[in-house]
Amino acid sequence: MTIAANLGEIRERVAQSARRAGRAPDEVALMAVSKLQPAEAILEAMEAGQHLFGENRVQEFAAKSEQLGERAAAAQFHLIGHLQSNKAARAAELFGAVDSVDSLRLAEKLNAERERRAAAPLEILVEVNIGGEGAKAGLALECDELREILRAQRRLSHLSIRGLMTVPPATEEAEGARLYFRRLRQLRDRLREESGLELAELSMGMSHDFEVAIEEGSTCVRVGTAIFGARPAPAAREESR
Ligand SMILES: *Cc1c(COP(=O)(O)O)cnc(C)c1O
Repeated sequence: MTIAANLGEIRERVAQSARRAGRAPDEVALMAVSKLQPAEAILEAMEAGQHLFGENRVQEFAAKSEQLGERAAAAQFHLIGHLQSNKAARAAELFGAVDSVDSLRLAEKLNAERERRAAAPLEILVEVNIGGEGAKAGLALECDELREILRAQRRLSHLSIRGLMTVPPATEEAEGARLYFRRLRQLRDRLREESGLELAELSMGMSHDFEVAIEEGSTCVRVGTAIFGARPAPAAREESR
């Protein structure tokens, strides 16, 4: 299967899941997760009409962005991987959005960097560790910091907090993730009431469970392998994130 054919199939499945849930297909954005894929794969997807991409490492995307050159301007790239604050400046420069903000300190750094550059506000999502897994990125479900970030929106005028993102615990069956997706949506509903922020975006669902995520209210599914095929192994001399 080519990237174009895969994209066509996934778009169709996204639309069907939305309709099944009584939602309009255009309420759900399809993000193509191009991490570890070469710049050529991104171009192929762009030729097939894809404009939203997710990357998980700053340095990896910096190299690809250079290869793409001016062609990158026709697409939107979001950072979806854990970001160390010492790379916040570079991330704020390279990405149109950071969907994996997991600390107040990082939010403040990103804000300061966009302010320094007099750039448009950076769109962010706050990442939630919805399954409470020890080794996973994201803020705990009911932690104070989550609310502190939302409260900080008033003074962080170079950020726009758009919603929440999560990677649920791995489950064999896609259905196993439903509970976690629902939990994220319920959390969003509560935080929306408390904070007065719209928090319109819920980034949840990947290749094996995006249909369930859409049924539970996802507004952005992040699909990698089902579009690009298996990811090449990371280079042995791997950069740190
Ligand atoms: C890799 C990755 C994806 C895509 O995963 P697939 O299973 O290949 O669809 C989605 N979200 C995040 C945060 C990722 O790191």
